[in-house]
Amino acid sequence: MRSIMTTSTAQILDGKALAARMRQDIGLEAEQLSQKHGRKPGLAVILVGADPASQVYVKAKKTGCEKAGIASYSHELPANTTQQHLLGLITELNQDPKIDGILVQLPVPAHINSETIIEAIDPGKDVDGFHPYNLGRLAARQPALRSCTPYGCMKLIEETGVDLHGMECVIVGASNIVGRPMALELLLAGATVTVTHKFSRGLQSHVERADIVVAAAGKQGLIKGEWIKPGAIIIDVGIHRLEDGSLTGDVAFEEASQNAAWITPVPGGVGPMTITMLLANTVQAFKTHLGEE
Ligand code: NAD
Repeated sequence: MRSIMTTSTAQILDGKALAARMRQDIGLEAEQLSQKHGRKPGLAVILVGADPASQVYVKAKKTGCEKAGIASYSHELPANTTQQHLLGLITELNQDPKIDGILVQLPVPAHINSETIIEAIDPGKDVDGFHPYNLGRLAARQPALRSCTPYGCMKLIEETGVDLHGMECVIVGASNIVGRPMALELLLAGATVTVTHKFSRGLQSHVERADIVVAAAGKQGLIKGEWIKPGAIIIDVGIHRLEDGSLTGDVAFEEASQNAAWITPVPGGVGPMTITMLLANTVQAFKTHLGEE
């Protein structure tokens, strides 16, 4: 067995670089369409309460919009906002012609039902791709607005140039926003998909036979390096902040790099792609609203 101190052999799937390239293209398309139609794509960003992590995400989304020529409209509401008030705001935004995308930053405070909120968003403006309509479209092999994180993971996997048909893919985590839509994306691409979750038995044996592992359990270092099949592709969605302020993922990166062919770092892997796909979805919704596609 190689020492964990040896240099990594896996190639890095650089989400930061891919995101930068994609954001340039998204910005160019947004600019051309804005000139043609006399308005910019518009994204409404709703934040309820003052959760520090959510504030950081919302700020990054707003900055991403600005740089890509997308107008962002902020709605920062107090933590005691009622569900009824939030639903009223969503109804207004659904009807507002300058708004192409509506994003409600999750989690919302406990007195608000996030499913009710997501379902209230016009599916054509659901740029997070969380609405059951959009998940259903993906399940029925007719994707419309796709969930941003899994969509970003697919773009990263595409970078490897691998043919996904028949590949053994193991997803660790089955949430509505990552694991489940990730399974649908990989199925659509022709892969053989296993979804594991907190009730699954023998996680190691699933991971050991995977050509592609997507780790999204939210458990730091859950996926051990020695579980990784030689030549596998590892997509680490997990994000954990350590005491020294640095970030790490669900995969033991150094050890996994000894076996994998490709691996995403944390930070700089999936994270930058999630916001990029939000921008892509906003421009896609804009085009649909303008009758461009
Ligand atoms: P979640 O808590 O909603 O879901 C976690 C899933 O993991 C559940 O389905 C659970 O059953 C499963 N799970 C828990 N323990 C497990 C185990 N031991 N084995 C197998 N499955 C297990 O979390 P989420 O919202 O899907 O997020 C997951 C992680 O991804 C978090 O760390 C989150 O911060 C991160 N995340 C990152 C991005 C990004 O852009 N990089 C986006 C979304 C989420």
